[in-house]
Amino acid sequence: MRMAVDGFLGILAYGRELRKNERLTRSGVEAMQRGKLSALVRYAKSHSEFYGKLYRDVDPGNFRLADLPVIDKDVLMEHFDTLVTDKSLKRKDLESFLAHPGRPLYGNRYYVMSSGGSSGKTGIFVYDRKEWRTVIAGTYRWTRMIRGSGIKVPRTRVASVTSPKPEHPSHLIGKCLDIGVTNKLNLYAGDDCESMIYRLNAFQPEVLIGYSSMVDYWASAQIGGRLRIRPRVVATNSELRTPAMEANIETAWGVKPFCQYSMTELLSLSSDCAERRGIHVFEDLGIVEAVDGENRPVPDGTKSSRILVTNLYNFTQPIIRYRIDDMLTMEGGNCPCGMEFRRITAIHGREAVRFRFRDRKGRETVVTSLDLLMLLESEPGIREYQVLVDGGGIHLAIVADGQAQEGIRTGLTRAFTAHFDGLDIPVAEISVSFVDRIERNPKSGKRMPFIDGTGS
Ligand SMILES: [Zn+2]
Repeated sequence: MRMAVDGFLGILAYGRELRKNERLTRSGVEAMQRGKLSALVRYAKSHSEFYGKLYRDVDPGNFRLADLPVIDKDVLMEHFDTLVTDKSLKRKDLESFLAHPGRPLYGNRYYVMSSGGSSGKTGIFVYDRKEWRTVIAGTYRWTRMIRGSGIKVPRTRVASVTSPKPEHPSHLIGKCLDIGVTNKLNLYAGDDCESMIYRLNAFQPEVLIGYSSMVDYWASAQIGGRLRIRPRVVATNSELRTPAMEANIETAWGVKPFCQYSMTELLSLSSDCAERRGIHVFEDLGIVEAVDGENRPVPDGTKSSRILVTNLYNFTQPIIRYRIDDMLTMEGGNCPCGMEFRRITAIHGREAVRFRFRDRKGRETVVTSLDLLMLLESEPGIREYQVLVDGGGIHLAIVADGQAQEGIRTGLTRAFTAHFDGLDIPVAEISVSFVDRIERNPKSGKRMPFIDGTGS
């Protein structure tokens, strides 16, 4: 699926437009966003049966974002056929299209991808050719942003990890970027670790990009001496990066890793700049609202309960105020790089898993992965973890350095015991075991940090 030359020129032209947006003042950014949002709402209302009904009382020329109803993945999938603005797109057809991976564009026009997420619910997302050019231009924007690190993009050796699944966005983007201007090594999540280390040693990447836990694993291999590379730029994506992972990466290569944060619903959403004052949200492509449990905005500098995202460039499948259970902290204000896009200054977790327990009085009590995440975050030195809840109790598998392990075991046992005692929930056993690495989801190659093994 190599991108044709005309497509590439379109990307360059769009890239120039994106660059202009980066120089806007704050009021300029907000005016541009208002214009794009109102065009999107107008289009969705008149071309999508679903939004036509949902926005019956919304005047596209005069409305507030906060007044628009919130949707989520369940709504998006349930109303798929009436929500998309091209009536020829049918969920059933796209599902069978995705069942035969590796085929070219759907209807010669649409990039189709699926995303599971740790909640296990699969969503289907569609971008037409023009919208996809925006995704690719957004990806090039990132390579431009890291140039401050002395990287000359055309000749640079880039090693990056993508999903082995052709329907996964990282795989599609990887394919489209593979136009011969960069010297690229594609690694697939799920490849054999030893063979990846061998290939990295042979390739000697200057830029290393991968899932957080995988880059962390390589950092340990570098410290241990099996991996011997000297990347000048390291970037992590797709998974939560803990402070301990960040420290491990800095120890290995002496560089502070970049962070790419995005989602299938809104690709090319953000990246940090060379100043590292947080991850800039590309507000010309999307809107991120940090909100509390009732979808009310939280003040800057405060941890959100979830976020609402609006994709400003996908008119095929409008995604407007779409709920994602990521806890983030956002900040406004100036960044020395000059961009006035808002910044994400902390990412605390993604997509809550809900565990159901019975308390001592027999009442059902829900504990979410976000509650457990707080307990895990309070214990420094944890690089990676997996929490399995089953009939036998709560089982924590932890990746951590040898000298930190006893302290972590004591701290976690104490924190988990206190938390469940406080909720009056009896737990048969809380076990902490230390492992070298945590098994991934065999399909997506991603981490499964929280697993509900109770069968409920
Ligand atoms: Zn900046």
